[in-house]
Amino acid sequence: MNLIILGAPGSGKGTSATVLREKYNLAHISTGDLFRYNLKENTPLGIEAKAYMDKGALVPDDVTIRMVEDRLNQPDCEKGYILDGFPRNIAQAEALDKILASKGAKIDAVVYVICDDEVIMDRVTTRRVCEKCGASFNVKYMPTKVEGVCDVCGGKVYQRSDDNAETVAKRLDTYRENTKPLIDFYNARGIIVEGNNNVDSDTCIASIEAGLKALSL
Ligand code: ADP
Ligand code: ZN
Repeated sequence: MNLIILGAPGSGKGTSATVLREKYNLAHISTGDLFRYNLKENTPLGIEAKAYMDKGALVPDDVTIRMVEDRLNQPDCEKGYILDGFPRNIAQAEALDKILASKGAKIDAVVYVICDDEVIMDRVTTRRVCEKCGASFNVKYMPTKVEGVCDVCGGKVYQRSDDNAETVAKRLDTYRENTKPLIDFYNARGIIVEGNNNVDSDTCIASIEAGLKALSL
């Protein structure tokens, strides 16, 4: 099964993707994590991406699409995958269609995580992430057992440089302008499955799972 997970920045799509990855044994392809990994390793791609990420803007399509295409060619994607953070605009979605067509593959469902802006602003500005495994925590709602240390892998937990109020507001604008139109794009194919993450992630996941079942997935 091949999935896309869509939602505003900080809507909880990364957390939902992690649950779905375990449940359905999928490769998890997060373009944000791939950019952050490149940045940590100081690669030319990471250095180029950082300037855009810090502004809350999208990294240019050509480098992003090439990075995803390479990732989709890795052997672990054969078991099925969840694309988290890609596509993020119509041009990327059309490029993805071409890549998949050349492989004789398709996207089975698009998971849409719904969350209100006020909730996002509160959660993202207090979010902490593990630099090693990408797990998300929150100083207010889900603190790590030991301060600064990941509960999952023992890695170092830090605040992303783009998780400040000003950049989050820009990321929300970028989302509305570029990414939200993808809902109509995939709705036309009848493959959208929704989860509402305003209250808690368990109810969100339960409704996503029910939606996937309704599509016979
Ligand atoms: P969030 O969804 O919480 O904003 P991500 O980790 O998915 O966080 O992305 C962080 C940043 O990485 C984005 O603001 C953007 O600059 C860049 N990025 C991630 N995915 C893409 C993509 N598909 N196209 C362009 N830029 C991307
Ligand atoms: Zn970790």
